[in-house]
Amino acid sequence: MRASYRVRVVVNLVNGSTLAGILVAAAGRARLARAADGLLIAERYKLPLPPAPAFCLGNVILTRGDRDAFVRAEALAAHEARHATQFAWCAGLVMLPLYFGAAGASWLLTGDFGACNVFERRAGLADGGYADRPLRPAVARWQAVLLRRRADRRRPVAARWQGRRRA
Ligand SMILES: [Zn+2]
Repeated sequence: MRASYRVRVVVNLVNGSTLAGILVAAAGRARLARAADGLLIAERYKLPLPPAPAFCLGNVILTRGDRDAFVRAEALAAHEARHATQFAWCAGLVMLPLYFGAAGASWLLTGDFGACNVFERRAGLADGGYADRPLRPAVARWQAVLLRRRADRRRPVAARWQGRRRA
């Protein structure tokens, strides 16, 4: 196992996020199985929440299917493993309010919980089954106004006055 994955195992043990994953797996009557890079897969998770086909808590990846099918879905497995690393960077469960804040901001901007969510983008949008989405029309118009104002401020003062005279 790579040294960085060993560090991830230890950090997520110490910050309690892996323990939280094991407890949620037990609550969802999932069966724990070892996987590569110090990860655990909790297979056949049975609780209805969250509605995702797989999710991650610390070094535990919880899936509704079985371990082998999950490991074969390489892109999704890599995506969830990146979330495990994010738990280590975010001091464990501190990631949850940060993640939900990012999901809320993404929904406000695009109408989708993943498209602009920094955690999902860094874990690989397509690998996680998310699509990149454009900004909501109102947000895009507001962004265009801000960009125009910023470009205007950067023009030399004389050019700005010329622009006003012409307009
Ligand atoms: Zn994800």
